[in-house]
Amino acid sequence: MKIILASKNNDKIEEIEKILNKTSIELLTWRDITIPDVEETGSTFVENALLKAKSASEVTGLGSIADDSGIEVDYLGGKPGIKSARYAGKNATNEENNNKLLEELDGVPFEDRKACYRCAIVYMRFPNDPYPFISFGSWEGYIGLNSQGKNGFGYDPIFYLSEYKKTSAQITSSQKNKISHRAKALMQLEYFINKTLKK
Ligand code: IMP
Repeated sequence: MKIILASKNNDKIEEIEKILNKTSIELLTWRDITIPDVEETGSTFVENALLKAKSASEVTGLGSIADDSGIEVDYLGGKPGIKSARYAGKNATNEENNNKLLEELDGVPFEDRKACYRCAIVYMRFPNDPYPFISFGSWEGYIGLNSQGKNGFGYDPIFYLSEYKKTSAQITSSQKNKISHRAKALMQLEYFINKTLKK
């Protein structure tokens, strides 16, 4: 079964491909078929994931999977949330976004730096699927006092996991792909796809 992955974020694509590699689906990406950029106009992760999945499915005629994700920081009332990718500006780099968050939390003690990654996954079986599959995953941690580690992407170098005493950029990708917000949401999709395909 061919499914288009409605994302142009290569870091996300790599994680999703690794997590879903045991399913029987053949995951195509923007490198195989052209998909349009989608303006993320929703006010929730799930609305934005639906917009991306719907657009990719309409354009390609295939089933599609989309991820919308971000990080919520308690001290900042849940910011940057759905604006995580563009927190420091429209074309901000990961480093610029991380620095902005670190500056905003300057002087805030470690125990008040709780943060949570969120992920919404949408799978549409065909364009205009009236019953899209939707799953969610969360991953709790803290915004560290500085940037550490080279793995992962986005906010990983400042997302501190107290149980590992490391940031999510210091654990391996296979560790991250078992416990992350994205892994949790995708495991539910994997179960749904396996169950649906067996019928
Ligand atoms: P979007 O889903 O394309 O709107 O972008 C999600 C943004 O959230 C990414 O660009 C990252 O900044 C952040 N993000 C989501 N998941 C992760 C993750 O697993 N690690 C680090 N940053 C993430």
